[in-house]
Amino acid sequence: MTRLDSVIRRLTAQRDLLDWASRIISPTGLVLELGLGNGRTYDHLRTRLPGREIYVFERSPAAHPACLPEPKYLMVGDIFDTLPPFIEAVGRRRAALIHADIGSGDERLNREVALRMSPLLDELLQPGGLLLADRSFALPHCEDVTRETGVAEGRYYVYRRQ
Ligand code: SAM
Repeated sequence: MTRLDSVIRRLTAQRDLLDWASRIISPTGLVLELGLGNGRTYDHLRTRLPGREIYVFERSPAAHPACLPEPKYLMVGDIFDTLPPFIEAVGRRRAALIHADIGSGDERLNREVALRMSPLLDELLQPGGLLLADRSFALPHCEDVTRETGVAEGRYYVYRRQ
């Protein structure tokens, strides 16, 4: 498999999962996008979930202006600085869907970030809430349901809060 094949597979899995989750998430609860990047997945989510409040977390927003959320929904800064006060403000167990796409090319750092972020996401998801992620997380109150989605193992990760 070429690197092009690999990127296409990952992006296809990402899009299919965003579509899948958009169809089945609870009609109530917050939606979070962690890592705005170019705004591609944010644009997809807001199109699939019209009318839903989508909070976006990004340390250095540089997306196309058409893909920037309103300032009220854009949490600028390092997620480890912005997420704890956000949880404090909105309350625990409030998220119906979290999409985390914050990986870099540094696998060791990615693992550290996922381990450190896990308790925050575990706390924020509401019962039945879903986490879609570009890497594995360690969530004590969630079940790994990736297999239910038909996505190939290791391509993307899906967790459901009990
Ligand atoms: N999903 C995006 C898209 O479709 O365009 C791509 C996201 S890109 C792979 C990852 C983004 O996460 C980058 O813009 C990076 O700045 C952001 N990011 C990574 N770690 C972060 C952190 N600790 N706090 C805030 N933003 C972070």
